Amino acid sequence: MIFRCPHCGTKSRVRNSQLMSPTVTWLYVQCLNLECGHTGRVDAEASVTISPSATPNPTVNMALSRHVHRNLIVFQLDTATVGDHVPHGPQQLGLQLDHDGDRAPPGTAAALKRP
Ligand SMILES: [Zn+2]
Repeated sequence: MIFRCPHCGTKSRVRNSQLMSPTVTWLYVQCLNLECGHTGRVDAEASVTISPSATPNPTVNMALSRHVHRNLIVFQLDTATVGDHVPHGPQQLGLQLDHDGDRAPPGTAAALKRP
């Protein structure tokens, strides 16, 4: 990821970062131009979902790109059969949506239920 120095336009290097929320990270950057030397903070935010996650975090509610075929995804989720697969990726959240009836809004206590 390349950030340009706002003062001289030279590349800046990320020296440190701080996770502020699941969608916001503060990046501390330093200009590589020795004659400039600007140091600053870049606020990076995950703002739009282009392709939905297979392991969504129920506390994250991001905008969904217009190109995503929402009705087709709902149809697939409602009609797909379950296949055997053991995930190999990062740890799962250990959370699941409450599907006793209607879907609970993401991030609410009703949506977060230990398995
Ligand atoms: Zn600079």
